[in-house]
Amino acid sequence: MGEPIYDRVHPLRQRHVMQNMLCQVCAQPVERDEHGWPWLLEDHRGERGWPEDEVTTHPPVCPACQPVSALQCRHLRGDVVSVRVGRVLTDGVYGKLHLPGRPPKMTILFAGDAQLPWILGGQAAATLADVTLVDMRTQAPVSREAVRR
Ligand SMILES: [Zn+2]
Repeated sequence: MGEPIYDRVHPLRQRHVMQNMLCQVCAQPVERDEHGWPWLLEDHRGERGWPEDEVTTHPPVCPACQPVSALQCRHLRGDVVSVRVGRVLTDGVYGKLHLPGRPPKMTILFAGDAQLPWILGGQAAATLADVTLVDMRTQAPVSREAVRR
């Protein structure tokens, strides 16, 4: 037994679970309900328009794994909301962009971008649309103000 290394993402596993709609914790298929796929997002309720069209490299999280993720993931701890995502467009790649004559930089590019040949891809990125905030325990829709963590 050791300490899980939550902040070191395995690129192949990340792409596998994102592209096959598997839970990033237990690797089981996530189930869609009438509001969409289960996901955890950093809480950005203060931002206008959020969470519509949020771009993320974090794959879905099944409802059973959400409470433990919210507690143990340092990235999310104390700053997380549960959502359901109606439409998931996985057409982005996160990686290191090596443009000639410029210093390399980490970025996300999307399908059709002319700079794609210059990126060393690491993770799949998805755009989330038709997003509904839900209660983490019941998975029922809640208003922006009523979200409890
Ligand atoms: Zn799970």
